[in-house]
Amino acid sequence: MSGCIFCRIVAGTAPSTRVYEDDTLCAFLDIRPITRGHTLVIPKQHATDLDDLDPALGARLFTLGHRLAKAVRRSDLGADGANLVVNDGKAAFQTVHHVHLHVVPRQHGDRLTFAKGFLLRRPHDTESTAAAIRTGLDRLATEEKETRA
Ligand code: 5GP
Ligand code: ZN
Repeated sequence: MSGCIFCRIVAGTAPSTRVYEDDTLCAFLDIRPITRGHTLVIPKQHATDLDDLDPALGARLFTLGHRLAKAVRRSDLGADGANLVVNDGKAAFQTVHHVHLHVVPRQHGDRLTFAKGFLLRRPHDTESTAAAIRTGLDRLATEEKETRA
């Protein structure tokens, strides 16, 4: 969908700071993050909302969100948890009409920082933030390999 900003990000005709990509999914930093490391997970194929999304793809979307939530805990961002949120439809304040799952890293006692971030939505150092998340994903993969061995 050429008018869709997230489709343009997938196509590489709009900029983004990617943290993960495979055949069907893409994850990149939110341009107006609530907290450092706020990431969006999207299907590469356009789907407007959950009504329009293939359930199998929805399951993969959550699986990647799940991995990212584990990755930020293992990253140097120092996350202790994460909010995973889908705003589904205008009624639920969806503003970009290409399905996306927000992964918002949280820290113990971050209530004030979170409230400030929610109001200001200022970007952090995007390259180092994305690198920290990628390292978190690598650490998770290593941990999984060691558990299987
Ligand atoms: P929604 O309210 O639809 O759930 O959230 C849309 C999210 O997309 C917002 O958090 C907003 O900051 C983010 N966003 C909007 N346009 C862009 C963009 O061009 N690039 C990136 N990386 N994020 C965007
Ligand atoms: Zn789209």
